[in-house]
Amino acid sequence: MSRKIAIIGGGWYGCHIASSLMSLGFSVRLFEQNERLLHEASGNNQFRLHLGFHYPRHATTRIQSRDGFSRFIERYGDLSRPIDQNIYAVPRWTSLLDFDTYKLIMTSTGIPYKTIDRCGVDLREVEGMILTEERVILIERARHYFAAHLRHALSLSVKIDAVEQTDNFVLVNGERFDYLIDATWGHFTPVPLKTFFEPTLLLYFEGAPNLPAVTFVDGPLYSIYPTEEAGVYTLSSVPHTPLGRYASSAEACAARDAIDSEVINAKLRLMVDQACENVAYFRDHYRFLGPQISIKTKPIGGSDDRSCYVGRQGRIFSVMSGKIDTIFFATERILNMMEADGDGAAPEIPSSLLANIRTKAAQVGLDVG
Ligand SMILES: Cc1cc2nc3c(=O)[nH]c(=O)nc-3n(C[C@H](O)[C@H](O)[C@H](O)COP(=O)(O)OP(=O)(O)OC[C@H]3O[C@@H](n4cnc5c(N)ncnc54)[C@H](O)[C@@H]3O)c2cc1C
Repeated sequence: MSRKIAIIGGGWYGCHIASSLMSLGFSVRLFEQNERLLHEASGNNQFRLHLGFHYPRHATTRIQSRDGFSRFIERYGDLSRPIDQNIYAVPRWTSLLDFDTYKLIMTSTGIPYKTIDRCGVDLREVEGMILTEERVILIERARHYFAAHLRHALSLSVKIDAVEQTDNFVLVNGERFDYLIDATWGHFTPVPLKTFFEPTLLLYFEGAPNLPAVTFVDGPLYSIYPTEEAGVYTLSSVPHTPLGRYASSAEACAARDAIDSEVINAKLRLMVDQACENVAYFRDHYRFLGPQISIKTKPIGGSDDRSCYVGRQGRIFSVMSGKIDTIFFATERILNMMEADGDGAAPEIPSSLLANIRTKAAQVGLDVG
């Protein structure tokens, strides 16, 4: 019998889980409060398809990224594209790790890279650099893909305020479902981890179309990454991108909505000054275009855990998103937990092992008494 599943949240997680469950024959309804899909964090981020290079301090995140990267390309081949020159650099004075340790961690995780001595642009105070194959996610294509693919399952512009669950079903928007998947990144029900909400500010810049992606690791550093639009880049900074730390979604949304030009201009100065520490050409080659404002749900702790978790309370699953490349792990965990529910208690089945052994022994002429 096909199970009926409700999903709240039309970000990367909700869309991918909906699409996967539909392919398996589940009946799915996806509720999204905005008019379009991928409108919140999923449409406002650095659009990097991670391979693990950003996370030298967290093994599970690296492993999920490494595996999720190839699965993403296999499943969503034309929703990302390669980048001509994608550099990770370890700065001499400000990194928490030295270059050899950084490389050792990546090598031991089985993530491929190439060490380079120079890169054609003027990077200062850098201890070492590698070239990587990380890609850029094509967000508009992704939005179109899911809008078309999920069209019969979508309830857009519907905000879910409350749900009810019994032992046998969950009531969402007046309709009965076998299960509910909360893919709101913790904005509806709590995720299975200690987290906080962090409003964020990335900055968009215009530059020549062939400038490299440059990411400085590891620690309170920054990165410049291309977008799907030729010549448009994001600048993200570990110390300056966060705009506060809030315990509830409502407080974080209110802080996000209060961001004004004064805050953005102050952050712009700080982020450009930081970029100029290592990217000598930054002021001459990039022109500020505008802000990108979003909210991140972050685990508490300094290890930079960005792996994916799924929690469960009765018939409600709550998904703690990792990065976009880790969507696959959420679907698998949810399916495992649903399958483990089965159709009731397993019947008593007596073992036939001894009878089988005796039969085989007799067949080969053994007399074992
Ligand atoms: C600044 C920044 C940079 C990032 N850079 C990268 C990067 O380069 N690469 C990468 O892989 N990841 C990056 N991330 C992380 C990535 O954006 C998230 O992991 C991912 O988008 C989370 O997807 P999601 O579907 O869980 O959440 P979301 O995209 O936030 O989707 C949740 C959806 O739920 C909806 N919703 C919430 N409450 C309700 C309700 N009550 N009723 C109906 N709908 C509701 C929301 O409207 C939203 O559309 C970045 C994040 C930020 C903030």
